[in-house]
Amino acid sequence: MPDAEIIAIGSELLTPQKIDTNSLYLTDQLNALGVEVVRKTVVGDERERLMDTILGAVARSQIIVLTGGLGPTEDDLTRDAVASALGRSMIFHPEICEWLEARFKSFGRTMVEINRRQAYIIEGAEVMPNDRGTAPGQWIAHDKVILMLLPGPPNELKAMFQKQCLPRLEKLLPPQVLRMRLFRVVGMPESDLDQLIAPVYTRYTNPVTTILAVSGEIHVHLRARCSTADEAEALLDEVCAQIEPLLGDRIYSRNGDSLEKVIGVLLHSRHAFLSVAESATGGLLGGRITAVPASSDHFLGGFLTYSDEMKTKLLGVPADLIEQHTAVSEPVARAMAEGAKQRTGSDYALSVTGYAGPDGENVGLMFIGLASPDGCEVRRVQLPGDRERVRVFSTNIALDFLRRKLLAPDGHK
Ligand code: ATP
Repeated sequence: MPDAEIIAIGSELLTPQKIDTNSLYLTDQLNALGVEVVRKTVVGDERERLMDTILGAVARSQIIVLTGGLGPTEDDLTRDAVASALGRSMIFHPEICEWLEARFKSFGRTMVEINRRQAYIIEGAEVMPNDRGTAPGQWIAHDKVILMLLPGPPNELKAMFQKQCLPRLEKLLPPQVLRMRLFRVVGMPESDLDQLIAPVYTRYTNPVTTILAVSGEIHVHLRARCSTADEAEALLDEVCAQIEPLLGDRIYSRNGDSLEKVIGVLLHSRHAFLSVAESATGGLLGGRITAVPASSDHFLGGFLTYSDEMKTKLLGVPADLIEQHTAVSEPVARAMAEGAKQRTGSDYALSVTGYAGPDGENVGLMFIGLASPDGCEVRRVQLPGDRERVRVFSTNIALDFLRRKLLAPDGHK
């Protein structure tokens, strides 16, 4: 199967204001055809650098997708640079020029001279019409290399890729199916996870395993490419059967569901209700839980008790308990969870109190309480990172604490 390379062209893509999103879309589309993207380059509107990049790509890869720089202005150099790199001339196509003129007319505008540049097509290229904009795309077969010149605006690029490139690529490429598995894992650092499963996945080039840390949890992706779906599924079964036992109950989802969705399903299946009492996370935990549709099936409500006074007033945490232990302590986390459970009448209640920082001492110290039908437990954790990370990680830990309780033999109501 050929490999692909993407070249995103535009000086604006090298500024802090603009990111190259086209290559993400293109990678997704190419992967679905079984084509691996092995290199991406972002290059400014500069002829020498662009030619250098194109020459390198032609020497390395079999499929090259270029995006941007097909406009009418002086700095739109893609056509020129590709023609020079391939040693081909540019040919003026009067019918494209007429089409451009008609298009401008339909908007009530007159085409200016510089737009004629867009009617130049590289010798031997197939024109790919652009029904969303003015820049036509070009498809070039050069020796054993395919080059696609696509417009920069994402809506134009996507439409052209779907209508023009996909059918051509499907004809060209051997039939391939791509099958994926995803394990969402919580409760272990990325490096530990990698150390644990690398001995398995490094033995396989197919499926390809990717480990991604996302907001304090880890996603393990496996992608198998085969000529039939059965073959791909069998390969995935083989590797997953070795990875799953290593990760055990740290895998909380195999279908992409979020942690909050998973605890929602668990609570609902047990006809149990949850409430929360939050200090340091300031509503983040309740926000995540209620982001799941139909969360009223398992969630009663929560308390956002940021000050000591509110902890006492709304949750009944004794003022002298706070004075004796401080608000960030095991007894206060316990009293918060118990208070929420008792005041809402829920079956389970989670509490979070801690120092999210960045100023002060003990930044990252969090106490997470879980009141359940069989008592109350508190976990003390020391989290690394900035304020946002500490807050998000705390909600992961709280949700996972509850998940494990619900899955434990004594976690049933
Ligand atoms: P046009 O005919 O519109 O000039 P073009 O092919 O010359 O098309 P560019 O001028 O390079 O395209 O880019 C047009 C706009 O498309 C840019 O302002 C930018 O907003 C967007 N764009 C270009 N490249 C990308 C990219 N790789 N990812 C996301 N957006 C992009």
